[in-house]
Amino acid sequence: MQYIEAKNIVTKTKNNLWFGTDYNMNIYRGCTHGCIYCDSRSDCYRNENFENIKVKAHSLDIISANLRSKCTKGVIGTGAMSDPYNTVEQQLGLTRGALELVNDYRFGIAISTKSSLIARDVDVLKAITKHSPVICKVTITTYDSDLCSIIEPNVSSTVKRLETIATLAQNGIYCGVLLMPLLPFINDNRENVFAILHAAKSAGASFVYPYFGVTLRDSQRKYFYDRLDEHFPNMKQRYISTFGDSYACQQYSTTILYRDMEAEAHRIGILCRMQDIIRDYRGRYQKNDDTKICQQELF
Ligand code: SF4
Repeated sequence: MQYIEAKNIVTKTKNNLWFGTDYNMNIYRGCTHGCIYCDSRSDCYRNENFENIKVKAHSLDIISANLRSKCTKGVIGTGAMSDPYNTVEQQLGLTRGALELVNDYRFGIAISTKSSLIARDVDVLKAITKHSPVICKVTITTYDSDLCSIIEPNVSSTVKRLETIATLAQNGIYCGVLLMPLLPFINDNRENVFAILHAAKSAGASFVYPYFGVTLRDSQRKYFYDRLDEHFPNMKQRYISTFGDSYACQQYSTTILYRDMEAEAHRIGILCRMQDIIRDYRGRYQKNDDTKICQQELF
C-alpha cells in the first residue's frame, strides 16, 4: 500500500446514464481482488503494479471540501476503478468515512463491490436512505464456486455475496446484482445466467443487470490470456480465432439468451433494464433530487 496525492476526489460524471450517478468518487487505485478480466489493468489508466493499492492522501478532508462546494446534490458512484471494499479498507475505514460524509452532506450513493465487507456499513447506508437514493450493486459473475475461485480468486465467494445481498435487502437497502462480465465460452451460458437470476431474487435483490461479453485491450488482454493458459486449456486460442483484436468480445448467441433472461426476469419480478432500475431506486426521491441547494450556505 502507498499514499498518493489528489486534488479532488468527487468529480462530476459526463452523463448519468450509468445507474443514474451524478458524481464519481474513488478513494483507492489498484485492487487486490485479482479478477482475471479486470479492465482497470488497461494501459490507459496508467496503474502500474496494479495489486499494490494506492490510497489518496487526506481523502476524507478532500471529499468533505468537494461535497461542501457542490451546489447540486445528487448520487455519488464509487467502485468503478477499484473495489471500495478492498483489503486495506478493513483497516483504514476510508470508504466508511466517506459514506458518513455523504450522509452529513445529504447526497445519495451508488456502490459497486464484490466484497461482503459492505455489510459492515449497513448502519450508514440506512441513514443515507432516509434522505437520498442508495443503490448497492454486488457483482456476481458465476454461480459455480469453483469457477468463482479461479476468475475472482481473492474476494468473497458467490455464496457470501448472495448472503450480503440478503443482509442489505433485509435492512431496507436497495440492492441487486451486476452480472458482468459474462465471459464468452466460460460463464455466458443459460444455466449460469438463470441460476444467478433466481438466487438473486431469493436473496431479495431488486435487479440483475447483465453485460454479455468482456472488453479486452493491451495489458489487460495479456493478463487475461495468461490466466486462460493457466486454467482453461485451448481457451486463449478460441478467443483469438473468434475475436481477433476486438475490444468488445461477445458471442452472437447471447442476444437470444438476453431475450430469454429478460422474459424470465419479468416473470419472477426482478428488473434488468437500466432505465427501469434508475427509475425504481431514484424515483421516490425525485423531488429532493431536483432541489438545488448550495452546500456552502448550509455549512
Ligand atoms: S474487484 Fe473490480 S477493480 Fe478489483 S480486481 Fe476485480 S474487477 Fe478489478
